[in-house]
Amino acid sequence: MTDFEFSERLKSLPPYLFAEIDKAKRKARADGRDIIDLGIGDPDLPTPKHIVDALDKAARDPSNHHYALDAGMPQFRQAIAKWYKKRFRVTLDPETEILPLIGSKEGIAHFPLAFVNPGDYVLVPDPCYPPYKIGTTFAGGIPYIMPLLQENDFLPDLSKIERTVLGRAKTIFVNYPNNPTGAVADGEFYGKVLDFANRNNLLICSDAAYSEVCYDGYKPMSILEIEGAKDSSVEFHSLSKTYNMTGWRVGWACGNRKAIEGLAKVKSNMDSGIFQAIQIAGIAALEGPQDAVRKANSVYRERRNALVDGLNSLGWKVSKPKATFYIWARTLRGYDSSGMAKALLEKADIVATPGVGLGKNGEGYIRMAVTVEKDRIKEAIRRIKKSL
Ligand SMILES: *Cc1c(COP(=O)(O)O)cnc(C)c1O
Repeated sequence: MTDFEFSERLKSLPPYLFAEIDKAKRKARADGRDIIDLGIGDPDLPTPKHIVDALDKAARDPSNHHYALDAGMPQFRQAIAKWYKKRFRVTLDPETEILPLIGSKEGIAHFPLAFVNPGDYVLVPDPCYPPYKIGTTFAGGIPYIMPLLQENDFLPDLSKIERTVLGRAKTIFVNYPNNPTGAVADGEFYGKVLDFANRNNLLICSDAAYSEVCYDGYKPMSILEIEGAKDSSVEFHSLSKTYNMTGWRVGWACGNRKAIEGLAKVKSNMDSGIFQAIQIAGIAALEGPQDAVRKANSVYRERRNALVDGLNSLGWKVSKPKATFYIWARTLRGYDSSGMAKALLEKADIVATPGVGLGKNGEGYIRMAVTVEKDRIKEAIRRIKKSL
């Protein structure tokens, strides 16, 4: 029998936090308990019908059954450029400044392979969406943590980054609207990041997956709206959250040409593009009626209000995010974030994500996603009131 082991790369990964929660959740369900799952960042609403219909039709056309172009269908790239222009007033060249992705996670995780050498630093927010750190580690780079603190409105304090690190830093990740904190960023912040990147020769990766999940009249901006941003920035977008299409695996990167070229090179050696029928459905999503987006946001907004108002009525101090479907709440006195998640599951049959699982600066917080129906959220509040 061959004696084989996981690579050092795999062995270096932090333990997968959600595995433990998943196990506990499965066990609770198997025991017949009625679990309210606020742990998942995945829309519960279905993909709008006209998008499913477009897939259905395209999937039946044999001309879509072959390998797709690595760089994506020209029509899909054009649809992205058109959407982007309308949404952000930014002009993108569909040929050189847009690259469709098999979900933005794929592009984010592969990106460091194109620009990070072993031993280079990558500046990552903490807590954060895990692929920023993991993709960096897989490329041999070193994630350097920028704490996201409540006192700074969950924006990184760039002045705290060590000079010695900056000498070997290649890339900085920013993510607004933010998962997990729900924080948002404005032009002043992006201007600072751009200035910082230009002074320190950094490529900015802006993850805008939640740019369309927003409330109360607030509209998130793109970093590319800022003059000169394309010289140093690439932005990641996704159809997943906007159109309830997480399972479809489709998104894109856009912005700086060299960044796009590098990521395209990595990808053309690793995958063979997105199923064409899905790209055609993506065109239908971007060019079709947008009322489902507005409707989803109004549903999330009601649920957000039910959850935040409910928790605050119990003495919690939670604020209402202007965007994303996450509530980032401080744990109750006496609980760390894992303990709080455990207590919620054991005493109230509620699944929440311990903040520490998304980075050490997430300690002291839990994340709840409003991806369950409002009645269930109200039931969650009743249970918390009764048992915690
Ligand atoms: C959900 C999410 C994404 C999108 O992932 P896809 O791979 O496009 O489904 C990207 N970034 C963040 C922060 C997310 O939460």
